[in-house]
Amino acid sequence: MYSRVSGWVGTEQGCPILKFADDTIFFSSTREEDLLTLKSVLLVFGHISGLKVNLDKSNIYGINLGQDHLHRLAELLDCKASGWPILYLGLPLGGNPKSGSFWDPVIERISSRLDGWQKTYLSFGGRITLIQSCLTHMPCYFLSLFKIPASVAVRIERLQRDFLWSGAGEGKRDHLVSWDVVCKSKMKGGLGLGRISLRNSALLGKWLWRYPREGSALWHQVILSIYGSHSNGWDANTVVRWSHRCPWKAIAQFFQDFSKFTRFMVGDGERIRFWEDLWWGDQPLGVRFPRLLRVVMDKNIPISSILGSTRPFSWNFNFRHNLSDSEIEDLESLMQSLDHIHLSPSVPNKRSWSLSSSGLFTVKSFFLALSQISGLPSVFPTKLVWNSQVLFKIKSFVWLVAHKKVNTNDMLQLRRPYKALSPDICMLCMKQGETVDHLFLHCPLTMGLWYSLFQLTKIDWVPPRSIFDMLSTNFNGFGSSKRGIVLWQAACIALLWVVWRERNARIF
Ligand SMILES: [Zn+2]
Repeated sequence: MYSRVSGWVGTEQGCPILKFADDTIFFSSTREEDLLTLKSVLLVFGHISGLKVNLDKSNIYGINLGQDHLHRLAELLDCKASGWPILYLGLPLGGNPKSGSFWDPVIERISSRLDGWQKTYLSFGGRITLIQSCLTHMPCYFLSLFKIPASVAVRIERLQRDFLWSGAGEGKRDHLVSWDVVCKSKMKGGLGLGRISLRNSALLGKWLWRYPREGSALWHQVILSIYGSHSNGWDANTVVRWSHRCPWKAIAQFFQDFSKFTRFMVGDGERIRFWEDLWWGDQPLGVRFPRLLRVVMDKNIPISSILGSTRPFSWNFNFRHNLSDSEIEDLESLMQSLDHIHLSPSVPNKRSWSLSSSGLFTVKSFFLALSQISGLPSVFPTKLVWNSQVLFKIKSFVWLVAHKKVNTNDMLQLRRPYKALSPDICMLCMKQGETVDHLFLHCPLTMGLWYSLFQLTKIDWVPPRSIFDMLSTNFNGFGSSKRGIVLWQAACIALLWVVWRERNARIF
């Protein structure tokens, strides 16, 4: 919350105050009479309201102020002189987010939470749930304001990774699926944990969205005074010439990624640039008609200056010289494509977020879009694994099967030969070696189960080459109704689960 004490004695602009819950910050000049006035106002306030201000427990911090000077002012106010950073609303103000120690509180919180979980035995599915619901979100408060250094992101992801594959305190276990795959979205075969750096970008994008919408807020004013306005008239400039320590410097780096997903909704067209902004079609007109953009006088000219406010449009293009034949062709097609536009002078121009149906920014949509950009598309039986109506721990087991990463004997042979069964043989048929494809598909015993399942459906089934193909194929075994699909998914998963339980029962 931000307010001003009006009629403040001694200063021209008044005394800005930041208040939240039981914390209050006063900003003041260093003039002694200002501080004395502040002190007497606080004392008078205490006498009137009975809410005594405890100066002993208050601190004074200097900005560009010598230590001696700061101590003298502290004596004047009967409070303590302190140094940066300070903790405000749980965030360190004036610290350096680029240094590793700045993030220590976050890492400590995560590790202490993990220690608390050590004693309880958790299934693989349980650990996934805890990571999704808790570990991923714990750093979010810091991540929503500061850019995380790559080294710190690696430290946090290592904590998550070790916990996922071993459970805390169970000793070293195998990391069955690579962390890159785990972080992918569920559509692409991952667990949807997401990279911390991408989550960070998406959270910081929120400030870029809020900036033009909160023009009267104190934080907006501060950023504006440091950076100045972007040539589009909506955002803050992304570069600032002098060096300083301000979270915005890192936030501004995401502007390119962010602005790709914004577009303008034209009202009167006064604050939207005709050539440079995205407001019509799939790309800015300057990108669609580069030859025309090259010859315009003013690239930042607003829509309203070119079209005028009413139909017919005035087409006030202002080119630098007469157009060539090919440029005239471009101009004709441009004018044709704009024929359906209606300007509505009474409606304000708006910026909308193209990734959500409401047109409003969401961190989640930005995060998903950023995750899509990185990494190649791949197919994965997402529906069977995650949409089925079975227990989560069984879903996560099927996820491992689909990745061929359950600990069958062939995997154990590779990883820890001394622990694997010898001879390396399938416990169900006692004939062939145990692989994921054999155990869950080609083993005569399992195959018998699959055949009896397909007999119920009257489908002529030919066993596919791999369990992945099997899970990826849409058989419609019990019809294509919702009930039929749910039933079929459950039946297939039950078959896999039964085989796995039986196999384990025979071994252990
Ligand atoms: Zn077998």
